[in-house]
Amino acid sequence: MHSFRYRDGQLHCEDVDLARVAEELGTPTYVYSAGTILDHYARLDAALAPLDHLICYAVKANSNRAILKLLANAGAGFDIVSGGELYRVLAAGGDSAKCTFAGVGKSREEIEYALEQGVCSFNVESEAELDHIDRIAGAKKTRAPIALRVNPDVDPHTHQYISTGSHENKFGIALERIGAVYEQAAKMRNVEIVGAQMHIGSQIAEAKPFASAIGKVAPVVRELKSKYGIKFLSVGGGMGIIYQRALESGSGKWWREHGNESFAFSVRDYAEAIVPPLRELDVRILVEPGRFLVGNGGVLLTRVRYIKKTGAKKFAIVDAGMNDLIRPALYQSYHEIVPVCRASVSDAGREKIDIVGPVCESGDFFALDREMPELHEGDLLAIMSAGAYGFVMASNYNSRPMPAEALVRGDKFALIRKRQTWEDLVRGEINPEW
Ligand SMILES: *Cc1c(COP(=O)(O)O)cnc(C)c1O
Repeated sequence: MHSFRYRDGQLHCEDVDLARVAEELGTPTYVYSAGTILDHYARLDAALAPLDHLICYAVKANSNRAILKLLANAGAGFDIVSGGELYRVLAAGGDSAKCTFAGVGKSREEIEYALEQGVCSFNVESEAELDHIDRIAGAKKTRAPIALRVNPDVDPHTHQYISTGSHENKFGIALERIGAVYEQAAKMRNVEIVGAQMHIGSQIAEAKPFASAIGKVAPVVRELKSKYGIKFLSVGGGMGIIYQRALESGSGKWWREHGNESFAFSVRDYAEAIVPPLRELDVRILVEPGRFLVGNGGVLLTRVRYIKKTGAKKFAIVDAGMNDLIRPALYQSYHEIVPVCRASVSDAGREKIDIVGPVCESGDFFALDREMPELHEGDLLAIMSAGAYGFVMASNYNSRPMPAEALVRGDKFALIRKRQTWEDLVRGEINPEW
């Protein structure tokens, strides 16, 4: 469920007309719905109620402090992948004791910082990293709580760049080796074995890969519990969201008619598949959703700058670019794109058009040959489902200032990150004296 709907022909986020946000803050601007994010959190929390569980929001999906604060207040923990993310969580009022620190390449500084702040666990991805953590904790005369990341070797049927749980990628430790590495960890003086972790990929559409991964890992968890008394299993994130026909609940029909099938990852199916086997394990269960909590809760507002025709092709050149939202260029991913003001476009003149950004790269597009109502210069568009892996991947490529971010709650909206200025672009750059 998300809270983006047409009301009197105007696209609203909760009770706020998105045209108003664009007028006040300019474009391109990311707009997030607090109600949607909290609703998704509450649904997942309720579905997992039969388990002793903690939802650790994967900060990398959207790390704006206002979003982190929203989730911290709802009771969430956090899955972090860098020292910078831990810093953000603390700045947002999050609890370090509810943070798990993942990632394949943690630096000394990051490990020291996480030890000082008292994270609940380091999720360790290699033997080399385990050694490193042991030494750093020893030097600080403390013990590092650790969980090893198990790679269960399942294929989640998702894009190759976001699949992480098969033996062919860099993540985790193979199931066959995990027992031996835990034994090594048990011999180390400065680490304390507290849990086990897995994460099989992202944008996973069905419950089945989760269930089969849990099936494979469950016997290991039982053994670890009896040998080392582990307290938790983290089953990772990766629950998929709707990108196609994201605005199904609207009242018009042209956007319903394009041919792509949508799917709806069902929290209920997920819980039905994973709760019974996890309950038997009788350890605390951590889940680390990123995209699921925030993905459908955000849009990127952008305005059409020019309409360009070349031969048979027609382009709408918009003011957002791949530097603002890189998902289409990086993952060939699909985003629904809709006009904010339906009155400004005509249902009659449907046509195929490429919606592209101003960046000097052929990969700078949001949609190719997309069936759209006839667009004009100045039309305001919403790129849907942009709440996850959107702003966090933004860059200054082509010296474009990063976009603004706004948060809506009910009939209010607030700027939660200022649009960068040209001065921001050169801040920190230094001319050598010579
Ligand atoms: C990226 C990541 C997540 C979140 O993935 P989503 O697909 O956004 O849910 C969770 N856990 C780990 C270890 C990750 O790397």
